[in-house]
Amino acid sequence: MDARRSRYLRAMGITQWLARTSPDPAEPIPAHPAAVESPGADTGVPPECPADGLDWDALRDTVLACTRCPLHESRTQAVFGVGAQDADWMIVGEAPGAEEDRQGEPFVGRAGHLLDAMLAGVGLSRQTAYIANVLKCRPPNNRDPKPEEAASCAPFLDRQIALLSPRIILAVGRVAAQRLLDTDTPVGRMRGRLHRHAASQVPVVVTYHPAYLLRRPGEKAKVWRDLLFAAAVASGKAG
Ligand code: URA
Repeated sequence: MDARRSRYLRAMGITQWLARTSPDPAEPIPAHPAAVESPGADTGVPPECPADGLDWDALRDTVLACTRCPLHESRTQAVFGVGAQDADWMIVGEAPGAEEDRQGEPFVGRAGHLLDAMLAGVGLSRQTAYIANVLKCRPPNNRDPKPEEAASCAPFLDRQIALLSPRIILAVGRVAAQRLLDTDTPVGRMRGRLHRHAASQVPVVVTYHPAYLLRRPGEKAKVWRDLLFAAAVASGKAG
């Protein structure tokens, strides 16, 4: 079986049965995957990571074809991510909205314009940073992601982080911060401190979501402080 096909089968959580060319009676029988304990076992998500070992192109193809959760039924398209694959900064948001679902790019609606302005404030753009979401598909009516949707999508974001290996992750909003830091602490209590994404050990700074700032422009000064903190971490002057 060729490597690409094999990767896709793994991505879909399908066990591959390969003919033995030289049976060896002394060889131990491997445990059935379902019998192996794994942290994902109680989430309903297949224990095998569907993104392990994928390069950028294969990961994008896998995300765009993903049917792991019911959100694929209502999406126009999956929204993979945008930006430089060697970016120092990774911005992680929540999920595509209506405009992102239409255009196939994260943060292109009103909140996205504000995010662009925030990035410009620290000398970045959507071409020089990398922007992705916790969920790759739009939840209907922009409702909050369900825990099982975030769990199902988690290997994709984790693989993006591993491939990018950024100097800093800016988690914008509750959903991104809580998913990356595996906590239910409110955003307000996570701001102003340096965290780490457990799987990669990449530093994480938490700030408010631009959609929240559109409703509460008075909070922009706090976000500006968070951006300066993240910039200091990215340049090695803090953390
Ligand atoms: N909000 C997000 O969190 N992500 C987007 O891509 C758009 C809006």
